[in-house]
Amino acid sequence: MATALPILERPTPIARPSPICTLPDRRRALYPEATDAEWGDWRWQARNMVDSLAALEAKFALTPDERDGLAATAEIFRLGITPYYLALADPDQSFCPVRRQAIPVRDEARVRPGELRDPLGEDRTRPTPAIVHRYPDRVLLLATDRCTVYCRHCTRRRITGGDEGALDRTALREAVAYLRGHPEVRDVLVSGGDPLLLSDARLEELLAEIASVQTVQMIRIGTRIPVTCPMRVTPELSRLLRRFAPLFVVTHFNHPREVTAEAAQACERLVDAGVPVENQTVLLRRLNSSARTLLDLNHRLLMLRVRPYYLHQGDVAEGTEHLRTPLEAGVGILEAMRGHTSGLAVPHLAVDLPGGGGKVTLQPDYVVQTGPDAWTFRNFRGERYVYPQPEARDCSCPYDEVFYSPGGGGSAAHGEAVNRPTSAPASPKSTA
Ligand code: SF4
Repeated sequence: MATALPILERPTPIARPSPICTLPDRRRALYPEATDAEWGDWRWQARNMVDSLAALEAKFALTPDERDGLAATAEIFRLGITPYYLALADPDQSFCPVRRQAIPVRDEARVRPGELRDPLGEDRTRPTPAIVHRYPDRVLLLATDRCTVYCRHCTRRRITGGDEGALDRTALREAVAYLRGHPEVRDVLVSGGDPLLLSDARLEELLAEIASVQTVQMIRIGTRIPVTCPMRVTPELSRLLRRFAPLFVVTHFNHPREVTAEAAQACERLVDAGVPVENQTVLLRRLNSSARTLLDLNHRLLMLRVRPYYLHQGDVAEGTEHLRTPLEAGVGILEAMRGHTSGLAVPHLAVDLPGGGGKVTLQPDYVVQTGPDAWTFRNFRGERYVYPQPEARDCSCPYDEVFYSPGGGGSAAHGEAVNRPTSAPASPKSTA
């Protein structure tokens, strides 16, 4: 007789180190009049974003560099900071990473040689205003031009700066029509701007439209909301996102200071609802460009069940040179991580090639010598080890022919991926 399987119970909680940053925020000092209900309401946070030099100066003692930077960039790129994120900034340290990400300095108004308005060459592969199609099987869908913090390192500032006007329903309808006409698109990254700034109803409408395209296998949402306005991640939003599984949230923590109790709750709500969360960090010079900071950040994120995924070398966006690191700095940071922590805590170091070349990854070189019989490696301690090669060289898989033949059980949608064209449409306008 079959016995019933025991119901799995959550293990008794074990005391673990807390991932939460223990620095107090400055909510009470900056917004003494805000009630708990207002503070915890994402719409209140969005309505009360600090968006001018005068409004910021009323809250914060600015340095001359920040004051000049705010004046010089007023016509270049939006200013906008939620009260929540502003309350994390250190009023006494001008190099505070939260402050540096949210408040411009003089250097931001300078465009250096090699910097580009469209650093990733996205506009060349933009068949409709809301679609960027750079890779064969996936597209970026720009859902909005608004964010809850306008990050000073933003790559897509030509869009988030409001230069192009808002992305309206017509643009989103055209985007979905494009997906229907391009069955090779398997993966849709919904970003912007921050798509979680759409209301639940509009977000649901958009996700339902995307999910109705039969050839789309998965959706990703690129968002900084868990970092800059975590109160937006309500139980209702988490359930809504779960309904569109497989759907991944890709967020953007850059410093351990950002791992607050509110941010942790937002991430855990998503994961508990069944929505996987991954993190992409941008390497920012003198803000987080140390192995110590990034290891700390990644360990905290893993404790929240958020997987560190990419460490991005800064793109060559106009006005961001002062925040970019030399390429070797990122490789050095990765070298200091690899072997000293679990592989889950070590992200891919990605360089998005200027002008639209796409992403490539960098890593320390551990290969000392290659040969047909053996390769020699150095490990993270610098010790040498030899890996013997097998004698047989044929790596073809005979069962592929069976599995991917008609009726063989393999999925054409997966199995044919390697046969798809390797370039996005050459003339985007003609494919719209
Ligand atoms: S949240 Fe993302 S899109 Fe918005 S300003 Fe920051 S980096 Fe740019």
